[in-house]
Amino acid sequence: MRIIVIGASHAGIAFTDAMRRNGFTGALTLIDRLDGVPLERPPLSKAFLAADPEDDGRFVLRKPDWFASNDIELIGGCDVTSVDPESRLVRAGDGRVHAYDRLVLATGATPRRLAGTEGLSGVFELRHPGDASRLRAAADQAGSVVVVGGGYIGLEVAATLAKSGKKVTIVEAAPRLLARVASPPISDFFAHLHSDAGSRVITGAALASVNSEGGAVRGVTLEDGQQLAADMLVVGIGVVPEMSLAMAAGAETDNGILVDDGMETTVAGIHAIGDSALRRGSPHGLRIESVHNAQDSAERAAAAIAGHEPPADQAPWFWSEQFDVRLQSAGIVPAAGDTVRHVQRAGKREGGFSVWSYADDGLRAVEAVRDPAGYMLGKNCLEKGLSPTPAEAGDPAFDLKAFVAAK
Ligand SMILES: Cc1cc2nc3c(=O)[nH]c(=O)nc-3n(C[C@H](O)[C@H](O)[C@H](O)COP(=O)(O)OP(=O)(O)OC[C@H]3O[C@@H](n4cnc5c(N)ncnc54)[C@H](O)[C@@H]3O)c2cc1C
Repeated sequence: MRIIVIGASHAGIAFTDAMRRNGFTGALTLIDRLDGVPLERPPLSKAFLAADPEDDGRFVLRKPDWFASNDIELIGGCDVTSVDPESRLVRAGDGRVHAYDRLVLATGATPRRLAGTEGLSGVFELRHPGDASRLRAAADQAGSVVVVGGGYIGLEVAATLAKSGKKVTIVEAAPRLLARVASPPISDFFAHLHSDAGSRVITGAALASVNSEGGAVRGVTLEDGQQLAADMLVVGIGVVPEMSLAMAAGAETDNGILVDDGMETTVAGIHAIGDSALRRGSPHGLRIESVHNAQDSAERAAAAIAGHEPPADQAPWFWSEQFDVRLQSAGIVPAAGDTVRHVQRAGKREGGFSVWSYADDGLRAVEAVRDPAGYMLGKNCLEKGLSPTPAEAGDPAFDLKAFVAAK
């Protein structure tokens, strides 16, 4: 059997790794339009941006010899342009044709572009290592930066650039930072963290225009008339799942390539994993963009192809690093609603705390700031289906460790 994987990043590589661990001895080929040894994505908004370009090798997803020693063919610099599910062939932009028995789409997602920035220099979206290298080089020459979008990636870039002495302004359209993904107490915490570091945080602000001079960005004007000058603009306003190959192959899509519990699409022999896939039976009904989801969906597809039991469902987890703060989050924070409550619990370390989010009196998510113990307890509760009452979670005297151990 020959398996072709399109996309050699977190999901695609985790899939090939899982297949070999499952004892698969057939041909495994990873194809990516990017050249070179694949790099990790999370550091691109954090340590990579602050690192010396000479040290980029420390961010590799797998050591260069890992591919050959696992008998995995890695074809870089190769853009796959079409899939023919009838004859089970993929075609690349360079004219090469590859035959497959199973195809795995690990094509990820593409950042949304900010209207009005087409053709301007000094505007940066961040998804791939090349984007991060360009951003890093431009930041070297820049004094001031406007970050459009107060989601995790925008905030991480803002923190890294503020730490290196740039004048940073964060502009977010929603009434609070991280509005789509975090609880209000966590949004408040990060808004203060950035302001205390000297950055300006503007929420509930719509952009009226992007200002430029001679083809280079010079800043933005907000709808209330405020002008924010900047040498560069970093745009972090979300991503769109990369579904073009799946759609051309006739697979059903929604806000992601629709897959079953074994990550198989509606076209026989084609699977989809990672950021591009949306699992129909997902307990959360959401398309999740995270390293954990990339790994979990890869394991799930590999188990299905090998005929093994699927891995147990885990609570989705995520982390973020901004300044000296590490946030860890498990579960899905519920959107605001009548039955939604957020309870804060002090952590053991100085400045550490966790936020326990409830909907209909059931625990849905735990976000922990400088509090790995609180995070682990919350994750355990979510995975075991345990729900301390909001009063218990908020009571520092309540022994959560004993509560989890007793069940
Ligand atoms: C800056 C940044 C910071 C992040 N920080 C965190 C974090 O702290 N914690 C966390 O959990 N997650 C984080 N994430 C999210 C995480 O990195 C993604 O969820 C993960 O990369 C998804 O992996 P993937 O393999 O599905 O997709 P991707 O990483 O997007 O990879 C898809 C690959 O497919 C290739 N491809 C697509 N189409 C084709 C084609 N037609 N032909 C050939 N190749 C193709 C692309 O070139 C790409 O290499 C971050 C992401 C970014 C960008």
